[in-house]
Amino acid sequence: MGRPVTDEGREKSRSSAGAGLGVRATGGAGGTDGFETGRSTNSARTWIEPELLRVGILGGTFDPIHYGHLAIAEQVAEALELERILFTPASLPPHKLHEDVTPAEDRAAMVALAIADNPRFGLCRIELERGGPSYTADTLQELAEEAARQRVARELIFILSADALAEFRTWHDPERVLACAGLAVVPRPGSPAPDIAWARAQLPVGAAAAARIHVVATVPLATSSTHIRDRALAGRSIRYLVPTAVDSYVREHRLYRSSKPVRTA
Ligand code: ATP
Repeated sequence: MGRPVTDEGREKSRSSAGAGLGVRATGGAGGTDGFETGRSTNSARTWIEPELLRVGILGGTFDPIHYGHLAIAEQVAEALELERILFTPASLPPHKLHEDVTPAEDRAAMVALAIADNPRFGLCRIELERGGPSYTADTLQELAEEAARQRVARELIFILSADALAEFRTWHDPERVLACAGLAVVPRPGSPAPDIAWARAQLPVGAAAAARIHVVATVPLATSSTHIRDRALAGRSIRYLVPTAVDSYVREHRLYRSSKPVRTA
């Protein structure tokens, strides 16, 4: 999920899979009835209901979403008393511009299925609708500007794991990320357990004092999307590594059957 500036590019189109799911920008089933973001051409979109003041953002490729993502989202929400976690799939992950990535609408559809039973979770399409390389700084700035338009003092917390934080200084405009949001850092098996001193040391020079940074000791789950794709490619089960609906979606749409997914362009 790191966002180093490596290249530029633009995802021109995507598969139609998931288009009929009625995916909302925020809210899992039952959480945000009636709160549609729509697909209007109005640039000032609304992604978060005005009454929500503590909101977490979990950005990722989600190729596919797995229980590791869901567990950290739930546990950070609980620890930091966040009212909503926005799962925000990247349109074009900047650190994967030269890799084949499953079409964004398939990844978003799987996120929608995975979070449907949790009213505190929502799918945020902000990066999908913006297109192009999905820089976290741009996303958080848009969300911060939305709060200003709504005239609410909203706390935005960007969730990332220790391995991602270790690369934070290589991201696009990390200072702007910190200007717009706090960080919640979680452990990831395979990386040293983060503590607050280490986490602060990963920030750009001068940012440490200003940053609102939390380390949340989530239960470690040693799973990754790469591991799941590899298993699916080998014809092995991914059951119990991803929600049942995601497992079904992968099978129905024949995802991860070849090592080079077709990128719709
Ligand atoms: P890939 O294997 O394709 O690189 P990934 O499993 O790391 O994917 P991403 O969608 O890139 O998944 O991850 C989004 C965010 O969630 C990143 O901050 C990532 O480090 C974090 N994350 C993913 N899996 C876990 C996990 N098992 N434990 C803790 N954090 C995780």
